[in-house]
Amino acid sequence: MDYTDLYINGQWRPGAERFDVYNPADEQVLASVASADIADADAALDAAERAMKEWAVRTPRARSEILRTAWELMTARLEEFAHLITLENGKARADAMGEAGYAAEFFRWFAEEAVRADGLITHAPASGARIIVQHKPAGLAVLVTPWNYPAAMGTRKIAPALAAGCGVIIKPASETPLTMLALMPLLEEAGVPPGLVNVLPSKRSGALVDHMLHDPRVRVVSFTGSTAVGRKLLHTAADQVLKPAMELGGNAPCIIFEDADMDTAIEGTMLAKMRNLGEACTAANRIYVHESVAAEFTRRLTEKMSALKLGDGTDPTVDVGPLVNADTRDKVVAFVADAVAKGATIECGGETPSGKGFFYPPTVLSNVTGTADCVRDEIFGPVAALQVFRDQDEVIARANDTEYGLVAYVFSSDMKRAMQVCERLDYGMVGLNRGLVSDPAAPFGGTKQSGLGREGGHEGMLEFMETQYISASW
Ligand code: NAD
Repeated sequence: MDYTDLYINGQWRPGAERFDVYNPADEQVLASVASADIADADAALDAAERAMKEWAVRTPRARSEILRTAWELMTARLEEFAHLITLENGKARADAMGEAGYAAEFFRWFAEEAVRADGLITHAPASGARIIVQHKPAGLAVLVTPWNYPAAMGTRKIAPALAAGCGVIIKPASETPLTMLALMPLLEEAGVPPGLVNVLPSKRSGALVDHMLHDPRVRVVSFTGSTAVGRKLLHTAADQVLKPAMELGGNAPCIIFEDADMDTAIEGTMLAKMRNLGEACTAANRIYVHESVAAEFTRRLTEKMSALKLGDGTDPTVDVGPLVNADTRDKVVAFVADAVAKGATIECGGETPSGKGFFYPPTVLSNVTGTADCVRDEIFGPVAALQVFRDQDEVIARANDTEYGLVAYVFSSDMKRAMQVCERLDYGMVGLNRGLVSDPAAPFGGTKQSGLGREGGHEGMLEFMETQYISASW
């Protein structure tokens, strides 16, 4: 591996300690990576502060063109990034290529948004004074990202932060720090000045992030990961009243009505369930099928799931790679055992293969009961959990019965009914006759305990900006 050190002020530092990163397909050590400590965090904050002073006053067009170049450079190297993503995360080649392309698109989208930080000028109704509203860079941002999308969860934050004029320190997940480190030479080549983006992998994430969130220069904390860690960071962010952006866990319902086009429903459910082998906050976690089409849907989904090839994700013929680590697989094994003990039937899969690698086969469970653990928690693996419903009000109530509110999926050919259902679902996003909602041009994010704020769309850049209002007379 070429890049395994800390990236601070445009330079590589070995760090006082190191930790191992593993390939989940063979459980072998891939790389020994530098682990940042408090002194490294201070050096990164100093560098980001210096770089941001100059970056924040560059013209929007100048910032935009550097982001656009980053998109071009990354687009030319998608295969290289996809390979690295597969090595450290495990996901199959097609999933990794999808992620690399999606990750690059954030640079293009925010290159386009950088020049559109529109404000407002109007008259105050009573006094007649001018109300001038403008947006300014919020300040240094600490970005913390998960292992399931080692490239995209980083670029979804870096691109809007840079577009807004902010400097950043990013702490990638300890399971998958290599992709973010490998992105840094590309950003340099694109023209990002030294110090503006710093990468600090660490085996002491809690202490490191806590220290940075108490530094008075930091104004934004943008986190993607579990709701449990998000809650902790919100508590910490309260000490300095930081601007929080939180992309947290999900428990997506996927509802197949009796009037759904069956081909569309199967294809959409496969995508919603199996993109990233189920290791996605957007993964269909609870699949509700109308009783009149349940038998057909179960049969066809089982056929599709059984046909997927499990194996090392670097093999281009493989559809489903290994899960990221032993813990993640153990959780999936426990979810299936619990669901079966509570009455579910295994239609396919359900058995952990022997040998090296954290593999788990595509699995379909039918007749899952409402008391099963996998109905309450994120499965985060290739297991489709099917339940049957009878009427619309009942399924909406069941779909909303969770602390999460990230994304829901609805399949119906009756658009009047479908839109009525979408509006009653308490979710930040809905896929209607589609199994994929992620799009750099759309506001990604959840309600309830799935998070605060939005990434992508027009909203994404505002997470890194403060609104200033000037009351003026002339
Ligand atoms: P995680 O919360 O365990 O870790 C996320 C990041 O936080 C990692 O970088 C980790 O090192 C760091 N971290 C852990 N403890 C910390 C602490 N005390 N202080 C500061 N940082 C800490 O999540 P994960 O297991 O890496 O990712 C899976 C979770 O992420 C799932 O719940 C998934 O739904 C969620 N996720 C959400 C979105 C979204 O956009 N809503 C996207 C991807 C993943």
